[in-house]
Amino acid sequence: MTDVVPDTHAREGRIIAESNPARTIELLLEDLAAHGLLYQNFPEDPAARITLHNAAPLRQGNSLRGALTGRAVWVVAELEQNTIRHITLELLGKGNELAAAIQGELAAILIGGPRAASVAHHLPALAAYGAERIYMAADPALEHYTTEGYTAVLVRAIQTYAPSIVLLGSTADGRDLAPRVAARLNLGLTGDCIDLAIDEQHRLVQYKPAFGGSIISFILSNTTPAMATLRPGMLHAAQPDFARTADIIPLPTDHIAEQIRTTIVERTYRDTGVAELESAKIILGVGMGMGAPAAYAPLRQLAHLLHAAIGATRNVTDQGWLPKQIQIGLTGRAIAPRLYLALGIRGAAEHIAGIRKAGYIVSINKNKRAPIFRHSNLAVVGDVHELLPILIARLEEMGFDNLPSPNNYASE
Ligand SMILES: Cc1cc2nc3c(=O)[nH]c(=O)nc-3n(C[C@H](O)[C@H](O)[C@H](O)COP(=O)(O)OP(=O)(O)OC[C@H]3O[C@@H](n4cnc5c(N)ncnc54)[C@H](O)[C@@H]3O)c2cc1C
Repeated sequence: MTDVVPDTHAREGRIIAESNPARTIELLLEDLAAHGLLYQNFPEDPAARITLHNAAPLRQGNSLRGALTGRAVWVVAELEQNTIRHITLELLGKGNELAAAIQGELAAILIGGPRAASVAHHLPALAAYGAERIYMAADPALEHYTTEGYTAVLVRAIQTYAPSIVLLGSTADGRDLAPRVAARLNLGLTGDCIDLAIDEQHRLVQYKPAFGGSIISFILSNTTPAMATLRPGMLHAAQPDFARTADIIPLPTDHIAEQIRTTIVERTYRDTGVAELESAKIILGVGMGMGAPAAYAPLRQLAHLLHAAIGATRNVTDQGWLPKQIQIGLTGRAIAPRLYLALGIRGAAEHIAGIRKAGYIVSINKNKRAPIFRHSNLAVVGDVHELLPILIARLEEMGFDNLPSPNNYASE
């Protein structure tokens, strides 16, 4: 660790503290409209989750920016249910900046099964989002993630091509794979970073929250490649350009099946709302002030009207009232929606750690001294149970129940 800085992230915006709830909602809606935050005003967001059925065919041959072996930034791509996870696009966006700073190239590592739908289909998107070179391992044994199989491929690739930086998502798979690879190669690893930069000496500076998120530490690696996992939702994807091409380098997969000791018997996907959290433009944060699930009907209605995803504080997920997977904060997920609407949330530092990248934060809390207000662009003093039905009724009057989902294009 080289240095620490206090993490001050106060927003302290406008406060609405009206005694009339209808007036409160009018002021709230006016404020959102003035900031272009009622979703029909949102411009198309290319960084949203993508599927690749319409992607242009990849052309071969590309001029690489630095093309020095050993000067490459690698992003280990992650697939989930035949979709590139948004964290991969975020890592490519940041990788692009890092590669430019070290005058190197940006490469993606794509590991998966050989079926067209599962791996090769993703090449155009990886190129569009900035990968100049794609190392691809396709083998039936790699159809699904296994620690042994993916470790073997990545370790061998790093030994062969010697990149200078290797980045993975701080996801369940990324957190499993990165330490295993680092240990095999005797490398350092910084887990769960929130940002990365290159310093004057061309070293990778890894930013990681410490002491409960109250400081950010700067970490440098003294092994090469520098390896880090990045927390989803902290970075922005680059603007995609589907005319971009990438060089495709196949990675060897011989004897891979023999190295895999895990047998996957079945895979089931629960609709936990995680995918929505990663790509949603509006997120409703549920705190203890919303009460127990019996009181969630207006919440679901509001989420439906705004095409919003739902996240929660740890206390709510600890109660089992919403799934653990959608917990926001230090020990949950980091989110980066355009609008975060915090409902009955106190604003503990551990929760704030996960909402720093939100574009605009509106909070409703009945305690005018609630800490969340210091981190909000708009603080609304009031009772959620009183205000939500009025907000819902006004949105319905405004025709929000007839508007198409802004996310439709992502799930054709
Ligand atoms: C190591 C560690 C890690 C943690 N990680 C996380 C994390 O990742 N994410 C996280 O969220 N927390 C985390 N926590 C917990 C965190 O410290 C807080 O306890 C938690 O965020 C509080 O949740 P809350 O705001 O929902 O509940 P409370 O603290 O109970 O606050 C409820 C709020 O609702 C308001 N309220 C009540 N009724 C109403 C109403 N009718 N209308 C409007 N407002 C109302 C109250 O004024 C209050 O401000 C962590 C704690 C520790 C120790």
